[in-house]
Amino acid sequence: MKYAIISDIHGNLEALESVLAELEKRSVDSILCLGDVVGYGPNPNECLELIKEKAEVTLAGNHDYAPLGKLDLSYFNPWARNAIEWTRERLTDVSIEFLLGLPLKQEIDGFTIVHSTPSEPQKWNYIISIEDAQKYFPQFSNQVCFIGHSHVPIIIVLTEEGECRFVQDNPLQISENRRYIINVGSVGQPRDLNPKASFGIYDESAMLYEHVRVDYDIPETQRKIRKAALPEFLAERLELGQ
Ligand code: ZN
Repeated sequence: MKYAIISDIHGNLEALESVLAELEKRSVDSILCLGDVVGYGPNPNECLELIKEKAEVTLAGNHDYAPLGKLDLSYFNPWARNAIEWTRERLTDVSIEFLLGLPLKQEIDGFTIVHSTPSEPQKWNYIISIEDAQKYFPQFSNQVCFIGHSHVPIIIVLTEEGECRFVQDNPLQISENRRYIINVGSVGQPRDLNPKASFGIYDESAMLYEHVRVDYDIPETQRKIRKAALPEFLAERLELGQ
């Protein structure tokens, strides 16, 4: 099975459509979405509709919880809060119903998927450092755990000697005696200084993982953000990838 693992779309329809077009070319068998379909971007309902149609599994992220009133808005920075309020006013009943049904974590075909962390995902903690990874490797039993949330694609390996470190290999051959935490990055708001939409492809039978980047029409998304009177920073950051 060849899985596409996508995360943090954030209402960015142009980025999502571009990623889906790439997936079409690469003939993946299944699309898994790790959450944050909405928040920040100008097309929350359109993105939810597409994800509902295309993804086999969709998880909830903190930005999917927030407009439902499931998460205290004081958790968020002012731009995020502004966008959550904007999103909440516009979500359709169909969108709300879909968001209400999303799980936080899932086990698929021998690997784990979650938006934030494999244990206590509802605390919305981040795995960005080696120390974070050391804390969370004992918290799941599968060989690989795919995450999103930070919008920065990374791979951390736990070796057979018990050493934890970042790996840069792309594509990455998953080796039998090692375990991995893989952040697939963000489709709709990358923050690793590369503005291209980010996602991952995991070929489970070949045990091969690839980070993929694709271009999308950033000026069009920025135009929509400005037209919607969302915070200007949310438009600017897309071209900077931060
Ligand atoms: Zn996010």
